[in-house]
Amino acid sequence: MALMTGEQYIESLRKLNLQIYMFGEKIENPVDNPILRPSLNSVKATYDLAQMPEYEDLMTTTSVLTGEKINRFTHIHQNTSDLIKKVKMQRLCGQKTAACFQRCVGMDAFNSVFSTTFETDAKHGTHYHENFKKFLQYAQENDLTVDGAMTDPKGDRSLAPHAQADPDLFLHVVERRPDGIVVRGAKAHQTGIVNSHEVLVMPTISMGEDDKDYAVSFSIPTDTEGIIMIIGRQSCDTRKLEGSSIDVGNSEFGGVEALTIFDDVFVPNDRIFLNGEYEFAGVLVERFAGYHRQSYGGCKVGVGDVLIGAAAVAAEYNGAQRASHVKDKLIEMTHLNETLYCCGIACSAEGSQTNSGNYMIDLLLANVCKQNVTRFPYEIARLAEDIAGGLMVTAPSEKDLRDPKLGAYIDKYLKGVNSVTTENRLRILRLIENLTLGTAAVGYRTESMHGAGSPQAQRIMIARQGNLAMKKKLAKAIAKIEE
Ligand code: SF4
Ligand code: FE
Repeated sequence: MALMTGEQYIESLRKLNLQIYMFGEKIENPVDNPILRPSLNSVKATYDLAQMPEYEDLMTTTSVLTGEKINRFTHIHQNTSDLIKKVKMQRLCGQKTAACFQRCVGMDAFNSVFSTTFETDAKHGTHYHENFKKFLQYAQENDLTVDGAMTDPKGDRSLAPHAQADPDLFLHVVERRPDGIVVRGAKAHQTGIVNSHEVLVMPTISMGEDDKDYAVSFSIPTDTEGIIMIIGRQSCDTRKLEGSSIDVGNSEFGGVEALTIFDDVFVPNDRIFLNGEYEFAGVLVERFAGYHRQSYGGCKVGVGDVLIGAAAVAAEYNGAQRASHVKDKLIEMTHLNETLYCCGIACSAEGSQTNSGNYMIDLLLANVCKQNVTRFPYEIARLAEDIAGGLMVTAPSEKDLRDPKLGAYIDKYLKGVNSVTTENRLRILRLIENLTLGTAAVGYRTESMHGAGSPQAQRIMIARQGNLAMKKKLAKAIAKIEE
């Protein structure tokens, strides 16, 4: 089976025995849980869209390992065209879900582990690349969703992994056995882990020799014994328990994150992709971060398209669409959103081949992309709130709207232009609320800030990649300075 349908994907998740906890309770049926289901639907969209002929070119491609048709989310990029299509695919998925569809972390992990294992083997004579290719083929043939897990809790940020008061604050090997390793630690903010078949673990920072046991990468099924997921709270999350499609803003799609614990988890030898070769930890981190910073030039732009559309609809419903300042705000939002897209496309078009044969984005441009993503969605959200008006946060609930007595008042007094129902006006305002302040704000705002690395991480990379020495030379040449 090279491609799963959305329904097959849902059924495949039912078969997993995941240890998920939320509000202090174990969730026995995560697939049908009303708080978790919208996030599952977002991943399902990556399967559904791949079945549609009009998106075939973006959503699917041919495996270099098997020659079979596969979902692009499991692909190893072969050229810059693949890198560009990846960004376009993410914009499409963002447009269709208005949420984080989660599957990109696995794709970005695949491509970074692919090239890093190749180089580790070349230096150390290890067999990680073969291990990884075997795993990747399995993921492609079964069309799996894989969670790329990088972020450790990190404890005291001024201390290296081995120097922490609690050695488990970075995930590490606690036992080496003939048949594999045992690992302990946690990965924080795991986007989509509860909707994934496998978790692909990578180190979170560059490491020195003393951190050897922390320089570890591997993939195992998400229902492996010892893996525990604790769901993170989101603003307005329990609205999903109320059964109102208006009040949640986006009733079908969402995203979800979990603190994922690895409580002495066994990893068999053939699933290990790094084990002590500490000098490659930083390489892996830099590549994964680079790919994921490129990703944000696609996914956030797609969600931005929905938010800009929602603001334009809200303006129409308010009768304000012809006001020049409203038009100008929509232009500004579009300008900012398309600037992010330019960055995503540019770092892809400027990509280059790695020693392993796959393609890597231009690191400087990918970091510029993500740096802009830490800012522009905030401004787009601010302008959307400006256009929407205060009602997006003061409107009564759907229950009140449906109440025979109160509903008549709400219908009468919260009407905008006469041709539009009050219900529709409330629907679009709730969508804007969801994207800017509600459950989706995790993905559109705070994740824009911290996902794929916080702003300072990009500034460090920009400093490193910016080639100031070359620029100084240029200036001196023009100024005819001879030293
Ligand atoms: Fe994909 Fe964007 Fe979610 Fe990352 S934040 S997993 S790139 S949708
Ligand atoms: Fe993310």
